[in-house]
Amino acid sequence: MIRKGTYVLFLRFRDDVETEVGSLGRIFLKAGDYCYVGSAMGGLDQRLSRHLKHQKNKRWHIDYLTSICDDMCAYEHEGPSPSECELARLMVSLGSVPAAKGFGCSDCDCQTHLFRVDVKTVEKALEAEKMTVFFDRRAVSEGQ
Ligand SMILES: [Zn+2]
Repeated sequence: MIRKGTYVLFLRFRDDVETEVGSLGRIFLKAGDYCYVGSAMGGLDQRLSRHLKHQKNKRWHIDYLTSICDDMCAYEHEGPSPSECELARLMVSLGSVPAAKGFGCSDCDCQTHLFRVDVKTVEKALEAEKMTVFFDRRAVSEGQ
């Protein structure tokens, strides 16, 4: 059974980072905490398990950050609402700072889907949207 929905990926950088992010070019992030909002209509388990791995082929903007961040965790919400863009607007309304223009939002009108956050703001957003910690619900396949 494929679980579809939206998610918040929490990323922590202990040091300032300057990195290439595919089509965006180089971006600079100050040491601190960040949130990325996204949706996985093809399946939360598959997508978030992939996000949480450090080593991967870089396909999306966020892959350039998940491969180098010091710490990360994922929160999910099953179902079509709120959309990832609604989550992005919520982050802005709670005072989160847009972190890199055009990040992860090639297909919508948002300024970005990546925000610099503080932990209290994240807690508020997760509570407001009733988001829960992600873990992979798929059965462990044998012989891997
Ligand atoms: Zn958007």
